[in-house]
Amino acid sequence: MACPSSGTPSKQVGLVTVKSLVRQLPFGMPRTQYFFCDSPACDIVYFPLDTSAPVFRCRDLLVPVGAKQPSASGLLCYCFGVTRGQVEEELRKDGKCTVLERIRAEVKAGNCACEWKNPSGKCCLGSIARAIHDFNRKSGLVPG
Ligand SMILES: [Zn+2]
Repeated sequence: MACPSSGTPSKQVGLVTVKSLVRQLPFGMPRTQYFFCDSPACDIVYFPLDTSAPVFRCRDLLVPVGAKQPSASGLLCYCFGVTRGQVEEELRKDGKCTVLERIRAEVKAGNCACEWKNPSGKCCLGSIARAIHDFNRKSGLVPG
């Protein structure tokens, strides 16, 4: 589904995630499928399939959406509070990043709560892998 504002192809997000992260839900919200727009250029976070349902923007959420702020303070992992800056700092210092392995171990142990904490509703491992790749590409370590 394309975001009605930015046209960004957006993935489905569970209602449990929308309900957990939206500050105030309106009364009488229709049951519908929501989608998550992760474009940094767009203010819409969640938009519904049923257009009579409300759209939710960055300010409607309890947490800042990391994907929409590509700065160092942008959160990548909401369960353990890992920021893009932390990942980049590790890579800069040690040439590698152990965050991925550490989080993978937590996921395995069942300590992860992405469905309720991450605005995408999905596990953060993908965004962390992407941040590592972005950093390595910027540093010229891997081809674009
Ligand atoms: Zn959008």
